Amino acid sequence: MDVNVAIRNTIRTIPDFPKPGIQFKDITPILENPVVSRAIVAEFVKLYHGVKVDAVAGVESRGFLFGLPLAMELNVPFIIVRKKGKLPAETVNFKYDLEYGSAEIEVHKGAIKKGMNVLVHDDLLATGGTAGAAAQLIEKEEGIVAGFSFLIELDDLKGREKLVRFDKPIISLVRYN
Ligand code: 5GP
Repeated sequence: MDVNVAIRNTIRTIPDFPKPGIQFKDITPILENPVVSRAIVAEFVKLYHGVKVDAVAGVESRGFLFGLPLAMELNVPFIIVRKKGKLPAETVNFKYDLEYGSAEIEVHKGAIKKGMNVLVHDDLLATGGTAGAAAQLIEKEEGIVAGFSFLIELDDLKGREKLVRFDKPIISLVRYN
């Protein structure tokens, strides 16, 4: 299966969600398709062959969907990166700027071990603010960013430019202008 074509043919674009003018890429039809979903995980495994990954960090909330099966396939821990206030045990956090205001993400303290190579995974790369913040949180915890993986990248929003400074692979299965 050509995963790029399969994703393009399966996702939906929802106009004006969550705000007027935004063309939201809806991945829920992919989740309803186990054949495409399995092919996505297999493609990530293939593309990350030869890259040292000790853990996968999935970003809330759609980063959890393929992040966990990817970690299971790679046989490494899965770490959840959540918005502030959702994790039950002691956390470490990272605050970052949004277009208007700021946001805070966190992981459980001790989930990221010193020197651990952690792959950042999310469903979609837009401005790169979220993935960049997750990467900085990994570094704050003395982990090493192993790379980035996304199903979708929106080229126009130039998120890649925020991630190149980590000097690691940035893999997107589908890119849109
Ligand atoms: P960024 O921080 O790169 O600007 O935005 C990426 C984050 O916003 C990801 O966590 C992603 O889930 C969410 N996101 C932004 N736009 C879309 C979209 O069109 N579709 C989906 N599925 N997620 C989006």
